[in-house]
Amino acid sequence: MPGIIVVGGGFAGVWSAAGAVRLARETRRELSVTLISPGDDLVIRPRLYQSAPERMRVSLDRILGPAGVRRIAATVTGIDTTGQTVTTTDRNGLSAELHYDRLILATGSELVRPDVPGADLLFDVDTLPAATELDIHLNRLPDLPPGAGRFTAVVVGAGFTGLEIATELMDRLGAVAATHAPGAKARVVLVERANTLGPELGPGPRREITDALAVLGVEYRLGVSVAAVEPDQVALSDGTQFATHTVIWTAGVRANGLTAGIPGVRDRLGRLEVDANLAVTDVPAVYAAGDTAAAAADPGHRVMQCCQHALQLGKFAGHNAAADLLGLPAVPFSATPYVTCLDLGSYGAVFTDGWDRRVVATGAVAKERKRKVNELWIYPPTDDADELLRQADYRFSVRQIREPAV
Ligand SMILES: Cc1cc2nc3c(=O)[nH]c(=O)nc-3n(C[C@H](O)[C@H](O)[C@H](O)COP(=O)(O)OP(=O)(O)OC[C@H]3O[C@@H](n4cnc5c(N)ncnc54)[C@H](O)[C@@H]3O)c2cc1C
Repeated sequence: MPGIIVVGGGFAGVWSAAGAVRLARETRRELSVTLISPGDDLVIRPRLYQSAPERMRVSLDRILGPAGVRRIAATVTGIDTTGQTVTTTDRNGLSAELHYDRLILATGSELVRPDVPGADLLFDVDTLPAATELDIHLNRLPDLPPGAGRFTAVVVGAGFTGLEIATELMDRLGAVAATHAPGAKARVVLVERANTLGPELGPGPRREITDALAVLGVEYRLGVSVAAVEPDQVALSDGTQFATHTVIWTAGVRANGLTAGIPGVRDRLGRLEVDANLAVTDVPAVYAAGDTAAAAADPGHRVMQCCQHALQLGKFAGHNAAADLLGLPAVPFSATPYVTCLDLGSYGAVFTDGWDRRVVATGAVAKERKRKVNELWIYPPTDDADELLRQADYRFSVRQIREPAV
């Protein structure tokens, strides 16, 4: 039976596997689909800035098992695009080599840490283990010896992730401080190297962001970065120092390192160039989806490294890899209209439309939309192959997702 290997069990990987199975089922063809991922769960990365991050995962077997996707718990350590094989290492350290007829690379992205003294002391919310480590650290702050910076956090990078964690931290850290002593206050300082907040978000949502920081009491320093980190303080590039035990790094994400093993052209984020069908340019039998793919979205725009695009890229990559293998027509990728929804903690949220990020909703309305994104729209169905395959159709819209009755 012809076989597709999907590498990566994130949003793009899950929907690639489901998209491939969907086409095979629809056309009543035989196809084996295998997904390789080191963990047993789909990690809901967009929620890792929230408290109790260990909740933010869904069993891959409950999503993909009923649809007949075979899963291998292992890390891919090498890809041979000439011999069409991948090398894996499992949790026991055992290596194996697997052949693919078509490969979909969906290994996501990873945070790039800065080269500064004490960089190993930086926290982050990029992965489930890192977000969990931060959560445990925050809850243990009351156990530290009293000191000026005990309930101070410094967040580095005022982009999407930095803004979400900084605004959320006012409440999270405030709650921790209050358990220690009534009236104990949290302090959050946001540090941004550019001279503006949310530089990559553009001017559209900036006023709303500035208002949110003011109302919540999040301080910010622009035009500076981190120079050195110590266990109980951080020094900024302008010489300012803050007493703190909590410095969170959010700046700079790149495509996962496995992209470097594919002999294709890469963009400045390390993403692989793909054609309209999401096949990696000039590399036979290899597709890319999610944060590893530099796909064209709308004229003049490439996809963003975001969940909205990862889901859609996965569905098309799965469909097209299967179509290629089964001798069926491919469907050129088309992105859903680009929107963003930025959480601003207890202030609310800001929802924008289009590449110029025009604000279309703020406050409680945007917050409710963010809740739906976070708690409903990005969760694939579990234990239900028919519903999974219905949603795996590249024409499916989140508006067709049924909200559970409460
Ligand atoms: C804190 C935070 C907040 C975010 N907020 C938003 C948001 O509000 N909206 C939004 O749209 N996006 C948001 N994002 C971005 C979004 O999470 C990513 O764009 C999305 O997860 C990309 O999906 P993906 O499937 O490409 O990669 P991932 O979800 O990262 O999945 C990659 C998968 O590949 C696996 N993998 C990695 N290396 C290997 C290997 N060598 N072998 C096998 N498997 C491997 C990983 O284990 C994982 O299963 C946020 C991200 C973070 C960290």
